[in-house]
Amino acid sequence: MTRHAGTFPITKAEAIIALVAEIYGAPPTPLHHPAFTGNEGSYLLETLESNLVSSIGPYVSEFEEQIACYTGAARAVATTSGTSALHMALLLAGVRAGEEVISQALTFVATCNAISYLGARPVFVDVDADTLGMSPVALRNWLDANTVIREGRCVNRRTGARIAACVPMHSFGLPCRIMEIAEICSDFGIVLIEDAAEALGSYAGDRHTGTIGKIGILSFNGNKIITTGGGGMILTDDEALADRAKHLTTTAKVPHPWQTYHDAVGYNYRMPNLNAALGCAQMERLPEILKIKAEIAGRYRDFCAELDLHFIKPLCGMTTNNWLNAVRFEDREARDEFLEATNSCGVMTRPVWRLMHELSPFANCEHDGLANSVWLSARVVNLPSSVPAAQLYRPAS
Ligand SMILES: *Cc1c(COP(=O)(O)O)cnc(C)c1O
Repeated sequence: MTRHAGTFPITKAEAIIALVAEIYGAPPTPLHHPAFTGNEGSYLLETLESNLVSSIGPYVSEFEEQIACYTGAARAVATTSGTSALHMALLLAGVRAGEEVISQALTFVATCNAISYLGARPVFVDVDADTLGMSPVALRNWLDANTVIREGRCVNRRTGARIAACVPMHSFGLPCRIMEIAEICSDFGIVLIEDAAEALGSYAGDRHTGTIGKIGILSFNGNKIITTGGGGMILTDDEALADRAKHLTTTAKVPHPWQTYHDAVGYNYRMPNLNAALGCAQMERLPEILKIKAEIAGRYRDFCAELDLHFIKPLCGMTTNNWLNAVRFEDREARDEFLEATNSCGVMTRPVWRLMHELSPFANCEHDGLANSVWLSARVVNLPSSVPAAQLYRPAS
């Protein structure tokens, strides 16, 4: 029990439910839903009228250029999902069957699925309790204790497998300690791939997340900060790698006016023009979405300070897109009580993902004990974080 504002004691759940109602109106309140108040309809209609709904059309390259320009990546390649973007990123980084990829156990399952598609195995190192992202200290400790450099390759001493890549994730838009991680990867000769699926609009210093590693990926799934219905993006400064990504995601077809020749096992991972049209309209709203999300996060943050509830903030010098607001309870019981009370009132709150090494496909993966990950997984809860459609600008019709 805690005392808030007035003179009578109310629970943290009751207090948050009241704030959520102030921000979003009466429940039910989803965790995150998209808002289409701009040019989404007219761009979609235009693609229908042009008949260019599928793999050919001008919106795909326009969306790619917008994302490249916004993030500062030299190149952006649009894909069907964040998961397919990750699959391609790992393939292009040279990850092969039987190799190992370091990631975090506190993540969405897509990170590990993509590693598995290549026949590689994830190794989980712990996260930092403050960023919820990969801990550079845990990463270095694990590498020092378990690997050797043989002929320029970082090898797991126990399994003999090459450590082919490292995939940290920027949880809920909060940038992890990516600069330190980049330095460690460079020391050990490991390719850095950033899972920035949740972090469009987040920065580590002045660098957009997803542009620090050799390759970064974004997701435009329906619950992300902007959406294309389903979609993803590969970010890189490596022109040759981007060209290869484009080629492989478009069935590896060699360009020719009428002949069909495919020079590799390709993938049908290209984002359709219909989805890219939605993406272009959503990108026009991104600055406004970020501004409103920052205001909402500010309200939660101030309110949580009064409630003596720990609100998770970005590190100093980092900028979050405030995709999903997150709080941390003192223990599992307090968390469960809060989840029960809020969800039974139609205010959708969610515990952080089940840790990857607790899922059957990844139960046998090597890990470092994951002390912070286990501790956080019993305590962290996401709060409703959508941008209320009513607050977004609507063009005059
Ligand atoms: C959403 C998400 C993905 C995958 O994106 P999809 O577009 O849903 O395939 C990957 N990693 C993380 C951390 C995500 O949150």
